Amino acid sequence: MADDERTRSLAHGLHTVEGRIQAACARAGRPRDDVHLIVVTKFFPAADVIRLHRLGVTDIGENRHQEASAKVAELPPAVRDDLTVHFIGQLQSNKAAHVVSYADVVQSVDRTKVLRALDRAAAAEDVVETVLLQVDLAGDDAGRGGARPRDLPALAEAVAAAEHLQLQGVMAVAPLGGDSRAAFDRLRVLADEVRANHPAATWISAGMSGDLEDAVLAGATHLRVGSAILGSRPPQR
Ligand SMILES: *Cc1c(COP(=O)(O)O)cnc(C)c1O
Repeated sequence: MADDERTRSLAHGLHTVEGRIQAACARAGRPRDDVHLIVVTKFFPAADVIRLHRLGVTDIGENRHQEASAKVAELPPAVRDDLTVHFIGQLQSNKAAHVVSYADVVQSVDRTKVLRALDRAAAAEDVVETVLLQVDLAGDDAGRGGARPRDLPALAEAVAAAEHLQLQGVMAVAPLGGDSRAAFDRLRVLADEVRANHPAATWISAGMSGDLEDAVLAGATHLRVGSAILGSRPPQR
């Protein structure tokens, strides 16, 4: 499988994205090591995750609970243990317990109910779950998830008070059709505000295939890139 056609195509995608990240870091005057690449593997099979792992990928992102759960279970233990799995999708509190069992990081915490469910699940598994607070930068309740910016301080306090959660930073998706650079600049300000009270909350997860350069320029520490590496997927509901 090492040099099958799909692996070559993934290697090409990774190479292209790596070039874009390096160029953006150079423009931003940031070291390349400041920016982490999470490859979003939603809609693609476990076989692709295994190929990506062989190509040196360390972090994958998934946004649909059932698909993610099944896919991670399919990975050989040596691959699974070598990867950090990020859950980046909308989360219902009744699914939270199960997400903790396969995701190392939950990036999409946006309300107290979910946060409490995650904390209980992490306590039951005797782990400390790493979480990010997802921010809604559109402010239009478009249903893509995320907390209102003004609710962030209270949510951050609640995570900090939760014994089995570790607040690692913030995450956002740029509003559709908007100015992604301005949105990510705003996220940066919100991230700095959270970090002022919670110094360990250093991650800023922002930037996808279409806007990763803007995210790097705005100070993102984690990029979530799918289609630029894996190819296009069927439209999402
Ligand atoms: C799908 C998805 C991504 C990756 O999007 P691409 O445009 O394919 O790079 C990033 N973040 C979230 C939250 C997603 O759902």
